[in-house]
Amino acid sequence: MTHGDPTKTYLWCNVCRRSFRHEDAPGARCPVCGAEMHPIGKMNAILRGLMATEMVASDLRTKHRQLVRMIWTRNGMGEQYYRVLAPGIPYNRFEAQVTELLCRGAAEGWVRFCLPPAPSATEEDYRLEFVDEERFVTELEQLAEATRKH
Ligand SMILES: [Zn+2]
Repeated sequence: MTHGDPTKTYLWCNVCRRSFRHEDAPGARCPVCGAEMHPIGKMNAILRGLMATEMVASDLRTKHRQLVRMIWTRNGMGEQYYRVLAPGIPYNRFEAQVTELLCRGAAEGWVRFCLPPAPSATEEDYRLEFVDEERFVTELEQLAEATRKH
């Protein structure tokens, strides 16, 4: 393998998950983050680039949110929360805000979304678990109160 040959390789930055041409990266330092890079073959660079793009695709994040929304609103649960809390916003916006709230809750660890290892026909395999119920109720009340003030 002609690793050092600048005409046959790119430089790969492990931090930014992307490759650069040798002439764009003096001293084999990443022009974006400054990390030391190592040369990789061109095909390797293209494949890694594709994989990195796949991993950060915003479409995946959107789909993840949709899944979260579908889980917490199923069996009319979304409408039931809406009726109980009576927030001062249309249902669509309420649904979006609670989805956002639950995504934050999952990131902070007070709720947990359980997914089956492979797509499943059993609805219960997709579920929301409350690690801290008190926290969820408090957050929901705050959300509804904030919207009623508008
Ligand atoms: Zn970098």
